[in-house]
Amino acid sequence: MKRLKINIAGIVQGVGFRPFIYNLAHRFALGGYILNNAAGVEIEVEGQADKLDAFIQAITREAPPLAVLAEVSIASLAVCGDREFVIKNSTGAIVKTALVSPDVATCGDCQREMADYTDRRYHYPFINCTNCGPRYSIIQEVPYDRPATTMADFMMCSDCRVEYNDPNNRRFHAQPNACHDCGPVYQLFDHTGRPFPDDTEQFTMTKQLVADGAIIAIKGIGGYHLACDARNEQAVKQLRSRKIREDKPFAVMGGSLAAVRHLCFVSEAEQAMLSGSIRPIVLLTKRPEYDLASHVAPRNPWLGVMLPYAPIHWLLLAADDVWVMTSGNTSDEPIAYDDQDALERLKGIADYFLVHNRPIYQRVDDSVVREVRGQSYPLRRSRGFVPAPILLSSAIPSILATGGELKNTFCLTRGKQAFLSPHVGDLENAATYNSYIDLIHHFEKLFDIRPEMVAYDLHPEYLATKYAQTLALPKVGVQHHHAHIAAVMAEHGLAEKVIGVAFDGTGYGPDGALWGGEFLVADYANYVRAGHLRYLRLPGGAKAIQEPWRLALWMLFELYGKDLANLAIPFVRNLPASWELITTAAAQGLNAPLASGAGRLFDAVSALLNLCQCINYEGQAAVELELSAVGQTAQLLPYDLSDSKPRCLDFRPTFAELVNQLQKGVNPALLAAAFHRTMVTATVDMVRHISRDTGITKVALSGGVWQNSTLLIQTLSLLEKSGFTYYIHRQVPPNDGGLALGQAVIAGHRFR
Ligand code: ZN
Ligand code: ZN
Ligand code: FE
Repeated sequence: MKRLKINIAGIVQGVGFRPFIYNLAHRFALGGYILNNAAGVEIEVEGQADKLDAFIQAITREAPPLAVLAEVSIASLAVCGDREFVIKNSTGAIVKTALVSPDVATCGDCQREMADYTDRRYHYPFINCTNCGPRYSIIQEVPYDRPATTMADFMMCSDCRVEYNDPNNRRFHAQPNACHDCGPVYQLFDHTGRPFPDDTEQFTMTKQLVADGAIIAIKGIGGYHLACDARNEQAVKQLRSRKIREDKPFAVMGGSLAAVRHLCFVSEAEQAMLSGSIRPIVLLTKRPEYDLASHVAPRNPWLGVMLPYAPIHWLLLAADDVWVMTSGNTSDEPIAYDDQDALERLKGIADYFLVHNRPIYQRVDDSVVREVRGQSYPLRRSRGFVPAPILLSSAIPSILATGGELKNTFCLTRGKQAFLSPHVGDLENAATYNSYIDLIHHFEKLFDIRPEMVAYDLHPEYLATKYAQTLALPKVGVQHHHAHIAAVMAEHGLAEKVIGVAFDGTGYGPDGALWGGEFLVADYANYVRAGHLRYLRLPGGAKAIQEPWRLALWMLFELYGKDLANLAIPFVRNLPASWELITTAAAQGLNAPLASGAGRLFDAVSALLNLCQCINYEGQAAVELELSAVGQTAQLLPYDLSDSKPRCLDFRPTFAELVNQLQKGVNPALLAAAFHRTMVTATVDMVRHISRDTGITKVALSGGVWQNSTLLIQTLSLLEKSGFTYYIHRQVPPNDGGLALGQAVIAGHRFR
């Protein structure tokens, strides 16, 4: 006989781990106990030595699907004669190191019960079990127990309680367990707040309203969605105008995989992403049969699609339904999740509200991914992913990294674990900024992290930087593009130097210019700027980002001076009369900062080709350029690569050739494709030169411009063909949503 104490840290709470251990102990006839503590679970088992060995092996081999065993430690104890195995109550220990599970999509068992009219949870919109249901969004603190969730106010009925207490039941200690008799309920309201009287018919009513063209605000897991029929041109158009969202594509939810396959091509990898337990929005390629309203994703070869993930979605969407499901907010504001707030903010947008009474403790947006080379490439990391940590290759001090400005997230670290916040949004918005501060405090409490220092972006005007300055902690300023590259390195556990290609719109450069087309030789501690894109001026400063025609104007002015007026191209014909004033001011450097941003170059070309002169969402000009390039055969245009230190990529020859061909009447779509190919070739050419200088063959790609999949996929192919090993983001987004991870690891290594 032997007795062992086993401590397991990781995601072991709220995933059916205790019943699993309970059943395992019975199988091997062991006595003892299991309990949830703040670090994870604590187990003591007693029995024959060979049975104990088999027990320990079975723990890792048979663990429940959602469990993540981060650390297992085993110690021997004195035998004390336990025959029974029991599940004890949780203890709240001093150090809270338990991991919190992300929210999990409704599992197959629960879907089956929900569809079975003999089941007591037939059509119950809050059905869940230990393998599925809300987690992060309802948890107030750890250990994860019902009183620490927003289910605390719901008293379980006797039937639910029996399930909850029965270790052989799949709802054993399922904290959000509930049913028609005791759990939360939905209620349909009109936009004046008047409830729809017959609550047994409200889902049928909601479906009818959507079929008739109404816009419904639906409370879900992490916030409110705005929903309408994606095939109803009028409804989708109305949603766009009420939400003040002109061109940015909407995501949709399909009622079944078959419905999605009818609209889009779905690879095996994409199918796995669509129907797994995370259920992000997946960007898919539209099929010729695509038949949704033209306003869903205008001019776009791709469509953001998700499958139902909360029980309510299964109840509302028929198998062939496709609904627009966009986050419940007006542009730029955070997603609504509080009922009163939602009613006020969304009443001018939604015709009806389908609301439930289970509070959402933390808002969490839908995540967005796309497939790149057979694997998931994240564009927005939120629901289903957070708050699972990103594992670092070595432990670092506890750091708060405050991130950037747009699409912001922050990061808190603890040992080898990096907790990246969900997508928060653009901090310039006051409501978003406040939710950012609140969320930092929530994360600090949830993971019991008291940061030893704060890392921030060097840009003095970023609100996240200003916030960092207010904290009484040692501070580490991190260069924006170094942080981007370090984020990819951290994901892949790279400690050696890499060639980092950081392409984004703008980031603060230590020389006072705006960087964003950077080739860095970097490790975590340091970087050298080995190359960059040639600077161009942004006439009008920030205005040039909203109005890309200013960039194209500057490029033409550099090449042709005032003679640009004689160019026979649509772009020049459409220039406002003020163009001469603008170029004169810019030439004198008046409100015209220098910028090397790759994003700005894409903007300039997009404007020159007359594709997009002014934007109504971030990155639009570059997106329109990519959309226009898709599927076109591409010629290679000239460019210059200097031998200076740092090396400089000059696209003036490219621009001149684009102008030449435009004057000859070449189709702008062909030129958009040619520009992409030229960018790819020039980028890899630069990498080859830097590799020759340094002997480094590992290349890491990061920055928002790498959301351009045409550019990304062509670059990966060419890097591979040229003998390089590439590293791209697989866990955090390439845009500024991944920045904080890089800041944290850099600060951690500097601290050493
Ligand atoms: Zn379930
Ligand atoms: Zn019940
Ligand atoms: Fe950036």
